[in-house]
Parts: sequence; C-alpha cells; structure tokens
Amino acid sequence: MKTTASKRLFSEAQQYIPGGVNSPVRAFRSVGGQPLFIKRAKGCRLYDVDGNSFIDYVLSWGPLILGHAPASVVKAVMQAALKGTSFGAPTELEVRLARMIVEAVPSIKEARLVSSGTEAVMSAIRLARAYTNRDAILKFEGCYHGHSDYLLAKAGSGLATLGLPDCPGVPADFTRHTLTAPYNDIKTVQRLIQRHHRNLACVIVEPIAGNMGVVPPAAEFLPALRELTREHGVLLIFDEVITGFRVHYGGAQSLYGVTPDLTCLGKIIGGGLPVGAYGGARQIMRLVAPVGPVYQAGTLSGNPLAVTAGIKTLEALQAPGVYQKLDARAAELSEGLGAAAKKAGIPLTRTRVGSMVGAFFTKGPVVDFASAKQSNTQAYAKFFHRMLEKGVYLAPSQFETAFLSTAHTASDIAHTIKGARAALRNL
Ligand SMILES: *Cc1c(COP(=O)(O)O)cnc(C)c1O
Repeated sequence: MKTTASKRLFSEAQQYIPGGVNSPVRAFRSVGGQPLFIKRAKGCRLYDVDGNSFIDYVLSWGPLILGHAPASVVKAVMQAALKGTSFGAPTELEVRLARMIVEAVPSIKEARLVSSGTEAVMSAIRLARAYTNRDAILKFEGCYHGHSDYLLAKAGSGLATLGLPDCPGVPADFTRHTLTAPYNDIKTVQRLIQRHHRNLACVIVEPIAGNMGVVPPAAEFLPALRELTREHGVLLIFDEVITGFRVHYGGAQSLYGVTPDLTCLGKIIGGGLPVGAYGGARQIMRLVAPVGPVYQAGTLSGNPLAVTAGIKTLEALQAPGVYQKLDARAAELSEGLGAAAKKAGIPLTRTRVGSMVGAFFTKGPVVDFASAKQSNTQAYAKFFHRMLEKGVYLAPSQFETAFLSTAHTASDIAHTIKGARAALRNL
C-alpha cells in the first residue's frame, strides 16, 4: 500500500499540531504506524491522499449513519450555507431539530442544542448538580463522556487507548467528586449510593458502552440503576451521544424501555457537523438560563448548517425498515468475523447491539473495562494493519466501536469478511 503522501503530510502536521492530530486516537499510536490522510469519502468508502480506498467502519466515530456525503444532507447543507451560516439569533430550523428530538426520545421534553457531545454532558452534569444541590457524580470505568475535567477519571476512548488512568491538569479537588464503579456491577453501585447518596447528584452511564469496545448492558443493569437512583433522589443521566438514533430511533432508552432523567446526544444528531444536545423533563430543564439560573451558552449553538445536517439525517432514519436493515447487515458482519476467527483458531469475543459491532481479542466474556482490557491489543494492531491492506478501515484501537451505515452493502460486508479470513490466518 502506497503511503508516501500521507507520511509527508503527517510529518508536516507534527510541526504545527500536537502529535499531528486534532483528536488523539487518530494518530494510530496504539496500533503503530502513521495515520492516513483522507482526501474525500462517499457512501461507505474513504479515499486517501495516496489513492487508496477503504470500506470505512469508523464513520467519523459514529455520526455518519447514512454513510459519507449522502446527497440529501449535502444538498440541504449547501442550500442552507447560501442563506448564512450563523446568526446568533433563533431560527425555525433549530426548533425543528429540537422538536424531532423531543418526539423521538422518551426522556426529553425540552432539549438545549450545543456544539459537541462534551458540551452536552458537561452541561447536563452542571444541571443535575444544580437540581439536586449536590456535588458528587458516579460514572463507570471505561465509559467516556467527553473531555471535561471531572469526567476524565478512568475514562474510555482515547484514554483507554493510550493507557492514561487520569489526566494531569485536572485538580484533585475536581475528581474528588467523581465516584467510579465497574460497568454492569450493580452491587458496587448499590454500595456507593448507600454511602454517598446525600451528596450524589447523578449517575451517568453509556446505556451501551461504546468507548471500551462495545459492552452491552446486562439485562438487569439499566433497570436496577433506574430503581436505585429514583429511590435516593439521584438523577440518572444516559449519555446517548453514540447510541441516540443509532440503536433505535428513540435511542437505547427506547430499545430497553428504561427512561433516564436527563439524556445527552451528539454524533448522529449533527449528521457529520458539530451538534450536541441535552434534555429531560421540563421541571429540570427549566433551571437552564434564561428561564433559570444555570448558565450555559454557545456562539454557534443551533447554527443553521449543523442543524440542517441533523434534520436531514433524522428524516432519512424515519424511513421504514432502516434499523432492521442495519441490524441484519451488522449481524452478517459479526457472524462472519466469528466464523473467520474460529477457523483461524483465534479467540475472539464478539459483542453487538444493532449497528454497533465489537470484537475483542480475548476468550471473554467481556462485561466491563477490566475484562475488555484482557484483549490482546498487539493481535488487534496486527489485525488492524492487515485489514487496511485489504481495503478495510477499522478504528485504530481495540477499545472503540465498529459502526455500520445504511451505505454498507451486502457485498461490502462479504469483502470485509473475506479480508478478515486472510488477516486472521497465522495472526
Ligand atoms: C463521542 C462521545 C462524547 C463526546 O462527544 P464529542 O462530540 O467528541 O465532544 C461523549 N460521550 C460519548 C458516549 C461519546 O461517544
């Protein structure tokens, strides 16, 4: 595979941008080698600056559920741009997106639009603290909720990839308020809530963990969290930045029938442009400024470009059968990988919810961050590079999710499985 142009750009990038990237996992550190610079993409295909092309399972880390540059989204964004990219004043479009979110997500009666998942979560936590008048929060090991200070404790995503337990620059005074428990471990949650509930504002969870690889919730986990938090006046926050509109039009909360107090969204609701949102019951949301005293603002929040991409994406997801089709394709992929691994004699633990596909290089079972970390990351790195050679672009880390889009066809999946069969041989 030719990588001359990518190598040249990466060495230039490193002179001007820390590590040559604007988000750490992009740098390929955990799998070795150098990142590929992408020139363009269409459907499920990425094209790099050296003329290589790949079937993409990263999809910009989740937002692109319709694939790259879907005509309906691109056309609408271009038309919106001609009318102005941001006004710093209300528009009809942002009302439409907020309404679509409220109509789709059971827990959300009012939503505030922001520009990233990080902002959505940070604001939801502030709101939970204000509403309960308590400071502590409880999160789960290996879950990632953006890069705000007190959420970087034992976090997934890039921190898991780079093996960073915590983050310098975050005062111990901040993380003092962050309690952590293993994912799926309701006993520990019970113990922590019993001990701390007088000062516990919220429990925040990825209802399907997607930032330590894919770790689905055990059957009783989310209902038990709901019950325990309600019992103690603690708010339950679902971080559905990945799962919102991904596993079901109404998010993981609709899939599992568990309704949190607050929900955070991002990724898909921006259709590939920067959008996040947080929302919940009216009585909580009414604490947000200008109605209430909890301040939260944004220069570009709800801008017409990003909101248009979100609206068009959600409209496409309302078509009948979209989620069934995604689910079927993802099942084919996961089963194909399983069969290939079995044939090669490689222990592979597969996890999947809808179009979120996980595969850990370990015997398993994988139920939390500790068991996810049993994966042989060297084997993953080798697999990753062999798949690149076969024209398949996976996440450059074991601890991420493979996403499918509506643009992936049966033949793309077949090609991927064929590549995996060869890549897993003699791994
Ligand atoms: C991606 C992600 C975030 C952060 O969103 P950004 O838009 O990258 O700030 C938060 N929570 C979860 C679960 C995510 O996957």
